[in-house]
Order: sequence, then structure tokens, then C-alpha cells
Amino acid sequence: MPTSSAEYKREYRKKNAEKAREWNRRYRAAHPERARESVKKSRARNQEAFDAYQREWRRANREKVRGYEQKVKDKDPAAWRERRRQYARAEHDRRRHGGLSAELFQQHGGLCASCREPAALIHHIDGKGTTVAHPNNAAENQVPLCHRCHRGLHAAIRRQALSSSANSPSLSDSS
Ligand SMILES: [Zn+2]
Ligand SMILES: [Zn+2]
Repeated sequence: MPTSSAEYKREYRKKNAEKAREWNRRYRAAHPERARESVKKSRARNQEAFDAYQREWRRANREKVRGYEQKVKDKDPAAWRERRRQYARAEHDRRRHGGLSAELFQQHGGLCASCREPAALIHHIDGKGTTVAHPNNAAENQVPLCHRCHRGLHAAIRRQALSSSANSPSLSDSS
């Protein structure tokens, strides 16, 4: 039995948390699809703000971060390497693809937009994605390709650039 008002409040919160959990559980059981969707939506809404906050916090707490990382590294080097890989991938996605990689791959069913083999990377159509500090990361400017089609495309772009800079007079002569 609660004896003080503080205790009573604590008790009240606990009871209601349980009620809320129970209500949530029932909702999830009745509408599993809708529940998954709403979690996904709220996560996406908050993801950007959360990531920004985390980056800021890490910048402000370098020593803490280093200590924590060292602990993880010592405890499980393989897990540490995997985490670094994931982090690097997420950074690459954020900087080079505006965080759209997963969505773009999904839109194309994970397949190369050119040959429909499994896609390996995302190409910037304006060709500047990997060369400028602020690439055009609009979804319309990005397309998933396999390595083979990507190499072929860039070879064709190079040939075109060469021929238009070196041979444009002769090209126009012959036309
Ligand atoms: Zn391809
Ligand atoms: Zn490319």
C-alpha cells in the first residue's frame, strides 16, 4: 500500500505504464501490420533529428566516446569491426546518397536498373555524385546499377567526353 504522495504517484505511473503496455500489446496483436507501419513511420520521422543529435553529442564527448569504443574493441574485436563497417556504410549513405540508398535499392527490387541483375551500387546520373562536396542527392538523380553496367556506363561517358572535346570538329564535318 502506498504511504506517501510521492510513492502514490510512483505507483500510479507504474500501473498506467502497465496499462499502456497491455493496451499496446493488444493493439499489436489485433493489427500487426498497422502497428509495424506506425513504428516505422515514427522512427523515420525522428531518425534524422536523432542522428544529428548523436553526432553532436559524440563531438562534444570525444573522451567518453573513445573510452566506450575501447571497451567494446577489447571485449569483442569482430563485433567492433562489424560495427565500424556498418557505421562507415551509414556515413557513406548519408553523405553520398542523402540517406536514400535502401529506399532506392528497394524501389528497383534490389536489381540493376539497366540489366536487372542484382544491383551493387547507386550511380549519380549527373555524374557529379562522387566528385563534388555537395552532390545532387535527389532521388531522381540516383539509380541502382550492377558493377558491370556501371563500368560500361562510365566508359561510355568517358568516350563521349573524349570525342566531344577532341573530335567535335570532325564529327560535325561528317554529319
Ligand atoms: Zn546491370
Ligand atoms: Zn557512377
